[in-house]
Amino acid sequence: MIVMKFGGTSLASAKEIDHTTDLIIREPNKKVVVVSAMAGITDKLGEIANRIVDLPSTIVEKECDKFCEKLLSTHILTARGVIKNKKTQKDVADKIEGLVNELRITLIGVGYLEDLSPKSLDYILSFGERLSVLIVTSALESKGIKAIALTGYEAGIITDSNFGCARPIYSKIESTIKNGLMPLLEKGILPVVTGFVAADNNARITTMGRGGSDYTASLVGRFLDVEEVQIWTDVNGILTTDPRVLPSARPIPKLSYIEAMDLAHFGAKVIHPKMIEPATVADIPVRIKNTFNPEGKGTLIVRKQEKIESVIKAVTISKDVEILNLRGIGMAETPNIAGRLFTLLGENNINIIMISGSSESNLSFVIRKDDVKRAVELLNKQFIGNGIRSLEVTEDVRIIAVVGVGMVGTKGIAAKIFQIVAENDVNIIMIAQGSSEVNISFVVKGKDGNKVIKALHKRFIEDEMRVN
Ligand code: ADP
Ligand code: ASP
Ligand code: MG
Repeated sequence: MIVMKFGGTSLASAKEIDHTTDLIIREPNKKVVVVSAMAGITDKLGEIANRIVDLPSTIVEKECDKFCEKLLSTHILTARGVIKNKKTQKDVADKIEGLVNELRITLIGVGYLEDLSPKSLDYILSFGERLSVLIVTSALESKGIKAIALTGYEAGIITDSNFGCARPIYSKIESTIKNGLMPLLEKGILPVVTGFVAADNNARITTMGRGGSDYTASLVGRFLDVEEVQIWTDVNGILTTDPRVLPSARPIPKLSYIEAMDLAHFGAKVIHPKMIEPATVADIPVRIKNTFNPEGKGTLIVRKQEKIESVIKAVTISKDVEILNLRGIGMAETPNIAGRLFTLLGENNINIIMISGSSESNLSFVIRKDDVKRAVELLNKQFIGNGIRSLEVTEDVRIIAVVGVGMVGTKGIAAKIFQIVAENDVNIIMIAQGSSEVNISFVVKGKDGNKVIKALHKRFIEDEMRVN
């Protein structure tokens, strides 16, 4: 048995859904399908939710109606394009209309109350997947497959109530996933599950963080103990760097779990970093494939590789991050400052991407731009004056990470990396190396990011390939 997860671009319109469902049908193994929202829909839902809270109440309803009409017509048109039978078309259109109406009421409520809580936002974002799953399931049925649309919760994914980045409750989902999906599979019914969307213990809708459909796929994979989790997307696998920076980036045939996790953590958006852990625990291979080039080999992520092909596998770039610098002579005398800081941010769901402390009176760390405002408020309240003199934010930066398991124990890599950076006349703002030695990461100014990526990619990937 396998899990096949399809991202938004694989479901962009009727044409893509038609192709995607053909791929699903062609797969001979027993399977569970996980789907994202149609391309761009989650972004749109997030935008309207954030906009509607700030609008004057006189135009709230009009704006919600406009948005919902557009959303409705996109999904109904897509459904019509993939469902042949008129009666089924009508049934699905009714279900889509029901969902969009539920969304409309929610948005109007949020708009009038001028209150968008993380809980309401999750509820609003969930409509993307709840709509797409209906269309994909009906498209499969239209091609003669017995399929059923399920929310993540119906498939057994129960999370805590951390709306916005909910965490699965492992002690529960081992049995709920099996109970949710096995009876269907045994009856020959294909489960099609919403990625990203789950619910807490009280059945309140949660989401597991942007890009979280990959995580849904690996959780299902782990607890059904499948042979492989497949992530179907719009590129030929995990590439040697971000193709938006360097279109000549190449697919990497094989990666270890730890390399894949580091790549995802430092900006390779193609997989969600959290998806690797469940796969690692159950030792399930993860394969990244291109929906639009299914013959391509893609990337296979496994525990260990027989042969290390090159010292460095990939270079990544993270945008949308900022540095927080804490300074103060008193820090040296304040016990466990780093521990308290981690706890405070962790409790508030703020993930530290990179950290470096250059002296006892200085600690710098990188977090997502979206988290900065909240982090500054929290730190000002709890730390400033309390051993810490100042808190500064450095904006417009990029994290560059060089990743490869071959770096472990190989001398001189850091020296080469920093020499290349210097040769390109770029200043390094901050440096860190994971103790696993699988990555070296550093921060540069925003304007230097692409230049550094291109230079490192040339030296460590293109030139190396030529030598081999
Ligand atoms: P999906 O909608 O299928 O989940 P995503 O947009 O989340 O797809 O991820 C795929 C995108 O990730 C690619 O289109 C590519 O632009 C981007 N990306 C960034 N870094 C990498 C990388 N190293 N390898 C592959 N893709 C990458
Ligand atoms: N639709 C969600 C998002 O855009 C989840 C996903 O695509 O993985 O973040
Ligand atoms: Mg994705």
